[in-house]
Amino acid sequence: MKTIKIKNKDNEFPVGKILCLGRNYIEHAKEMKAEIPSKPVVFLKPSSAIIRNGENIIIPNISKELHHEVELVIVIGSGGKNIPAKDADDHILGYAVGLDMTLRDVQNEAKTKGLPWTVAKGFDTSAPISDIIEKDKISDPQNLAIMCKVNGAIRQKSSTSNMIFSIQTVIEYLSSIFTLETGDLIFTGTPEGVGLVNSGDIIEAEIEGFIKISHPVITA
Ligand code: MG
Repeated sequence: MKTIKIKNKDNEFPVGKILCLGRNYIEHAKEMKAEIPSKPVVFLKPSSAIIRNGENIIIPNISKELHHEVELVIVIGSGGKNIPAKDADDHILGYAVGLDMTLRDVQNEAKTKGLPWTVAKGFDTSAPISDIIEKDKISDPQNLAIMCKVNGAIRQKSSTSNMIFSIQTVIEYLSSIFTLETGDLIFTGTPEGVGLVNSGDIIEAEIEGFIKISHPVITA
């Protein structure tokens, strides 16, 4: 079972389900030539996809086009069903930075054929994640600078203020469909600037001023 931990603490939390949003930043939807969604676009990753800071991201041999997507991750502390937006904060343990690693060629083929994204989004090592920053350490989670670098060069840099669906709205929406449970993760979507990574690259993802992860990319 995969676990994550709170920064500077020892106890490990088992990871539950991983809910992910697509197209939650306007500029990313535009670069994908996709419609701006009127309700959240949702997909899942299995918890087996999790890796922790420093571990290798492995490009599976079914793909020649691995993309980075840096995202703010919400960590659920106490679960619930039909959580109103105004109560969402009570259910959050904290936040982390994650990478929604995506096999873009496999995803594009699935989109074309009207098939699910599960393989493109859920393969082993597709969910690198940092330790958790407890929510009381972050005064405004809707105003965090998130960034992704490849080999030291900035590829993505945005603010969580640019999300289409806010953290509270996302929790209200998702909990109306899926019962949220302790240890569930919500990847909240990526800003613009997604792009290719190759074997030998180093990807860094960061919530500026709070936490950072760094991962080598290798081939299977
Ligand atoms: Mg994403």
